[in-house]
Amino acid sequence: MAAAAYDVAMDYLYKYAPGVAEHLVISNATTTKEQLYGDIALSSLNWFERLWASYYIYIGNAILATGLMSFVLHEVVYFGRSIPWLIIDAMPFFHKWKLQPNKKITKEQIWKCTKVVLLTHFTCEAPLIWLFHPICCYFGMATHEVPFSPVWLMAAQIAFFFVFEDMFHYWAHRGLHWGPLYKNIHKLHHEFSAPIGLAAEYAHPLEVMILAQGTISGPFLYCLFRNDLHILTVYVWVTLRLFQAVDAHSGYDFPWSLRHFLPFWAGADHHDFHHMAFVNCYSTSFRWWDYSLGTDAKYHAYKARVAAAKATEREKIRERELEQVEKEGQEAERIVESYAKRKTA
Ligand SMILES: [Zn+2]
Ligand SMILES: [Zn+2]
Repeated sequence: MAAAAYDVAMDYLYKYAPGVAEHLVISNATTTKEQLYGDIALSSLNWFERLWASYYIYIGNAILATGLMSFVLHEVVYFGRSIPWLIIDAMPFFHKWKLQPNKKITKEQIWKCTKVVLLTHFTCEAPLIWLFHPICCYFGMATHEVPFSPVWLMAAQIAFFFVFEDMFHYWAHRGLHWGPLYKNIHKLHHEFSAPIGLAAEYAHPLEVMILAQGTISGPFLYCLFRNDLHILTVYVWVTLRLFQAVDAHSGYDFPWSLRHFLPFWAGADHHDFHHMAFVNCYSTSFRWWDYSLGTDAKYHAYKARVAAAKATEREKIRERELEQVEKEGQEAERIVESYAKRKTA
């Protein structure tokens, strides 16, 4: 079935885009091994590196192999991380740690969110992901190559990607709150004033494309200065970044959440406030940009008001504060949108 579909697709490509077709030819195992690994003694490598090489040899085309692996990794991690949040939300035991306990997500909202996310993944991300391998090669990133980088190097590279992405996201996200961009692009993502994990990529395709640059251009930028980046490191980074994005939208802040141990880690507590208040808390992983530029003043004021309340009244006050913050958020959103209307009228 897959082989027949491949043959039909290749016939079309050879007819209309022979240049592309040439790069998608699948070779047999002996030829692929010779082309990709030459005289490297694969048996001297560790099991994971041997598995990696076997996968590329089995697929028989490095572009298809990288594309398939990238797409599957993204889907497995995204849904694998967000579905458990739906299960947690269905268990009353966890509700005491919900950031906006007064909000209930309906089955219709979950279904609509799933459809939009899948549509974006298959129509926008899938075609682009096939370009990933050629772009990686262009920038000098290792893909099919083995061995991998040492762990200390991977950790240092990933730390750089986290810092870069956070900076990129802070400014791009603030840009998306500018009237015309908000009204035409970012508004969809803000449909959830109390987000769920699955809504991390519930966004306009253009927003997905713009904000994805923060995740993937860090590695490419790195490649301009050094030639020791392996795509496996990028996969680890993308996995951690997806965990961060899904968790930040989970709507839950547990006593064991990372932000309680790393004070500069943003977590759901930070991003949930952004969805509720519309302003404040624009960054993704870290708190330093919002803190340095004062775009978390409302967030800290809200936290301080709740903390100052007597323990017996805290829940009641928190509820009142949540309502007030959300009301102000709706007003702030209305002002941004009316600005867009005036300018585009
Ligand atoms: Zn926003
Ligand atoms: Zn969000």
